[in-house]
Amino acid sequence: MEAVLPPGKPLSRRRVLQGSALLSGLSLAGCATPLGDTGPRGLGGVLPLFPIRASADRLFDVTVCLRPFRAMGPRLDTEQLGDTLVVHNYGHGGSGWSLSWGSSTIAVQKAMSTSPREVAVLGCGALGLTSAILAQNAGASVTIYAKDLLPDTRSARATGSWTPDSRIALADKAGPGFAALWEQMARTSFKTYRRYLGLPGNPVEWTDRYILYDIPPEEAAKHQPPDPLGFGQYEHLIGDLEPHREILPPGSTPFPAPYVMQRETMMFNIADYGHTLMTDFLTAGGKFQRMEFHAPSDLQSLKEKVVINCPGYGARALWKDESITPVRGQIGWLVPQPEVNYALFYNGVSVLSRRDGIVVQDVSGGDIRGYNDANETPDRGEAERAVAIIAGLYSRFRLPTPA
Ligand SMILES: Cc1cc2nc3c(=O)[nH]c(=O)nc-3n(C[C@H](O)[C@H](O)[C@H](O)COP(=O)(O)OP(=O)(O)OC[C@H]3O[C@@H](n4cnc5c(N)ncnc54)[C@H](O)[C@@H]3O)c2cc1C
Repeated sequence: MEAVLPPGKPLSRRRVLQGSALLSGLSLAGCATPLGDTGPRGLGGVLPLFPIRASADRLFDVTVCLRPFRAMGPRLDTEQLGDTLVVHNYGHGGSGWSLSWGSSTIAVQKAMSTSPREVAVLGCGALGLTSAILAQNAGASVTIYAKDLLPDTRSARATGSWTPDSRIALADKAGPGFAALWEQMARTSFKTYRRYLGLPGNPVEWTDRYILYDIPPEEAAKHQPPDPLGFGQYEHLIGDLEPHREILPPGSTPFPAPYVMQRETMMFNIADYGHTLMTDFLTAGGKFQRMEFHAPSDLQSLKEKVVINCPGYGARALWKDESITPVRGQIGWLVPQPEVNYALFYNGVSVLSRRDGIVVQDVSGGDIRGYNDANETPDRGEAERAVAIIAGLYSRFRLPTPA
């Protein structure tokens, strides 16, 4: 069977070794909480997890999105078009939701440098909405101009995980200051997301993620997918923010895998979170105007003389910005199961149980998967194959024992 690795971001060898050390009762400096402190939870020492009803007939949608990837990282510079100041805020690859608050904080600071009373935001995706709300907080009257509202944007077709360094830059193309900029964006975002925890509808919540291995994790680390482009890895810079991974004792989960790594992680229920953002924006007096721009000069016809530019992948056409590379990603949507409150990764397939659907993704091949592929046509066969892998897993799942 294929070696299994976490989605988007392969486990670093060090992480795996930390987990393995725990398994054998050893401890490495700075590593995870010893198992004795947290221990297996649930009846009979087995975690009481509910199975996912994985079958192709429960796939109610298949969606495709293009990650707006820039080798040098997101574009955050400014540009003067006549008397209009444009602040760019696009090109966040596979990290747009995760970095949105941090990136938009930087963009809004630049936009407010001239203390405008009115600010326009181009785009109503993750970056546009967070820019708009932050500009309101800074005292501006804000109008969002976009051809699509959030539910129709590419942002709405994202997985919804905290993945702040997923396809965010190439290590050798990002400038020397990028790591520090990235850390600033990630920390600001992480802190801002706390405000959305515990709200009705659970726009943002923490969830357990189980990474299942058929072979020892240190063996799996040797079989990581190739990364010929050298995507930047920065997550170690914020290692203090999240709980560490731990390897669970054999037999302590219902999963039929000999090795199970567990980690708590933040996730975004995008339907509810997006609704919350839109409601917050409109309640604070924000306005939305549907409009399509065909050239940068179109922005000069807006009444606002400061524009925060958040067109995502749309920048490639609108700004003729060839530095944006599409990275295709597809999601199969299984009917939601509120009783399933976890995510998992198994045999190249990532699964995240959100309130608005169970997100199933074939992520085999690593970060290079979908690179430079602008095909946005859903591939139902791919979605069904991913669901079949998960169905095979659950056919061997230990059902929870009634109390
Ligand atoms: C499969 C997949 C999974 C992902 N999972 C995650 C994840 O788990 N976590 C994470 O952090 N990130 C994830 N991402 C990345 C994330 O989705 C993107 O980085 C993010 O959506 C980019 O948001 P945006 O606001 O820049 O762009 P968009 O969402 O594309 O929004 C652009 C806006 O600009 C408007 N616009 C564009 N061009 C024009 C124009 N010419 N005229 C008028 N309006 C225009 C659009 O209508 C839209 O409103 C994922 C991406 C994919 C493909």
